[in-house]
Amino acid sequence: MATDAVSPVPVGGAAAYVQPEIDVPALRALLDGRYAEVRDLVRTNLAKYADVLEDAETMTTDEFRDRVRDLVVEMASTGQTGMGFPKEYGGGGDLGASIAAFETLAFGDLSVLVKVGVQFGLFGGAILQLGTKAHHDAYIADLITGKVMGCFAMTETGHGSNVQALGTVATYDAAAQAFVITTPDEASRKDYIGNASRHADTAVVFAQLEIEGRSEGVHAFVVPLRENGRVLPGIRIEDCGRKLGLNGVDNGRIWFDEARVPRTALLNQFADVTEEGVYESPIENPNRRFFTMLGTLVQGRVCVGGGGINAAKVALTIATKYALRRRQFNATSEEQEELLLDYGMHQRRLFPLIARTYALHFAQEIVADQLHEVFSRTEAPEEGENEHQRRELESRAAGTKALGTWLATEAIQECREACGGAGYLSVNRFDALKADTDVFTTFEGDNHVLLQLVAKGLLTDYASEFEEMDSFGMVRFVTGMAVETVIEKTNVHKLIERIRDVLPGGDEWDQEAGLLDPNYQLMMMRFREEHMLAGVARRLKRGIDEGLNPGEVFSRVQDHVIGAARAHVERLVLEAFVDKAASLPDGDQKVALNLLCDLHALSTIEADRAWFMEHGRLSGQRSKAITREINDLLRKIRPLAGGFVDAFGVPPEMLRSPDLVGPDPAAA
Ligand SMILES: Cc1cc2nc3c(=O)[nH]c(=O)nc-3n(C[C@H](O)[C@H](O)[C@H](O)COP(=O)(O)OP(=O)(O)OC[C@H]3O[C@@H](n4cnc5c(N)ncnc54)[C@H](O)[C@@H]3O)c2cc1C
Repeated sequence: MATDAVSPVPVGGAAAYVQPEIDVPALRALLDGRYAEVRDLVRTNLAKYADVLEDAETMTTDEFRDRVRDLVVEMASTGQTGMGFPKEYGGGGDLGASIAAFETLAFGDLSVLVKVGVQFGLFGGAILQLGTKAHHDAYIADLITGKVMGCFAMTETGHGSNVQALGTVATYDAAAQAFVITTPDEASRKDYIGNASRHADTAVVFAQLEIEGRSEGVHAFVVPLRENGRVLPGIRIEDCGRKLGLNGVDNGRIWFDEARVPRTALLNQFADVTEEGVYESPIENPNRRFFTMLGTLVQGRVCVGGGGINAAKVALTIATKYALRRRQFNATSEEQEELLLDYGMHQRRLFPLIARTYALHFAQEIVADQLHEVFSRTEAPEEGENEHQRRELESRAAGTKALGTWLATEAIQECREACGGAGYLSVNRFDALKADTDVFTTFEGDNHVLLQLVAKGLLTDYASEFEEMDSFGMVRFVTGMAVETVIEKTNVHKLIERIRDVLPGGDEWDQEAGLLDPNYQLMMMRFREEHMLAGVARRLKRGIDEGLNPGEVFSRVQDHVIGAARAHVERLVLEAFVDKAASLPDGDQKVALNLLCDLHALSTIEADRAWFMEHGRLSGQRSKAITREINDLLRKIRPLAGGFVDAFGVPPEMLRSPDLVGPDPAAA
């Protein structure tokens, strides 16, 4: 457990404190982790194709889309984009490497990133995970090279988050041994589908499978869309039009009018239809089947979370470098105006974001490792072990994606403002960064919906009978049982007990523990999480006891549900950072990283101090002490800030911003 592993580095008062120095290459090596070579390959490619950043501003939409497509195909030839696919099809056979490559690609143009995500992650990932050997043989080698371009057609105009309610229908025609794909109404047209409007030849289409009038739920089918660039009969495609960002990706709408595909087009990893039209699946429970199927697509979510975190690094690097050369007002000297980064407020704005980026980077590393492990495992797991691990992975992936993409939105905006008017010019990157990352909070699962998924896991402790529940499954589950059974079956009683045990010594211990003691910081996080969860459970029970409609009860408690999930993920993120810092050998690097870790922990507590005070966990005095400590940490971090952002390893070509990050003419 993180808490036990901690051996805090004492950072004493001003007298005892010795300012550490950062070894930037070593810190970068720590961040790059075991896939440093892969990340460097991507950095080299990004620098080679750096012109694309300008193309995004100068080309027409169609020209730019084609440019992005060509670039993706060129990058594919370096092996960068196929790392997650099996070697026998020309891939790299290393899922972890493919995540590292994707994350690093987020330093560059994000239309390229998202096009790669659609082609190799969503389309390729669906063929790999949902299909079987025949599909792999038919598509994987060609999709790795970009010879076959594909799209992932799940979302419809009427349903995005609620995938189980999709309207597209695939009816089995036993006589012809074919599926007939139909869009029954306007709400069921496929919408926002990346790669669809211009480049995709093939789609993985999610549709309700119907056999002799009986619905078997949502399944995925491989459906050809175009041949030699022409849209096939029975299919209509329109462009989604200009978007807020990511205009190098051709998002489209698709309608199916009795488009026919052979029986073998069903991606049949989890269910199949015999020639005679008999439905077969090794997973009996339709809900569980559906969520098992969706669960295999978790990779996309992990990628988008990592992409968001790395986009934040670009913004923070530019803003910090600018603040190290931009001067404004004679604050401390008559001769020279003050550097922006020497202003306390500027430090307040940027450093906690740098700290959170490090924290999320390490949390993301854990998710990516778990993903690699779960999906690369060759030995048979203990019964139920794999499924439990998968649920845990899905929950972590959902939470890290939500926090990582919200970090991107917040950090990019703050950094834009921190660069003043210069931040507004497209050449300085924030234009594209803001516009292109905005939707990261929505696609691959809307962040609020994802946090409900996290909460579901927490309330049920991934108990197997509840694994198949969707975000509102909790309501159905509450409806279907007597309240006592609910309380018995969920973790409520355990939660309430745990909350008593969780904090050694309670109030007194709080007052005595040092603010920089990671045990104290983690206990605060854990207290909030457990308290919120128990509160949610109690409120659910009370609402049901009062005879309210379960849906209404859930809805009333929803802010609390999201708060509990967020508190849980924030605890995991802090643990990841604390563990990483603790794993370093004693020395300057460890002291430096601990400063950042402390800043992250204390600013997270500070941000929610009203809650901690409301719940008797923080006195007014201690709350003020936290603010003082943060300000002290900021001053200590100030000389290290340049090194912290340099260690992100964003290629200089990706920063652009010639007037913001270039050499300081005044210093020359
Ligand atoms: C640029 C772009 C690219 C995309 N690419 C693809 C693609 O290639 N393939 C694909 O299949 N899809 C794609 N999508 C679709 C994307 O995945 C969906 O937009 C996303 O899943 C959200 O669905 P929705 O738009 O229907 O929003 P909704 O689900 O309608 O959500 C709208 C709002 O309601 C809230 N909300 C929803 N449900 C609840 C609830 N239960 N409780 C509380 N609040 C709730 C959400 O938090 C959100 O703020 C893309 C979208 C965009 C914009």
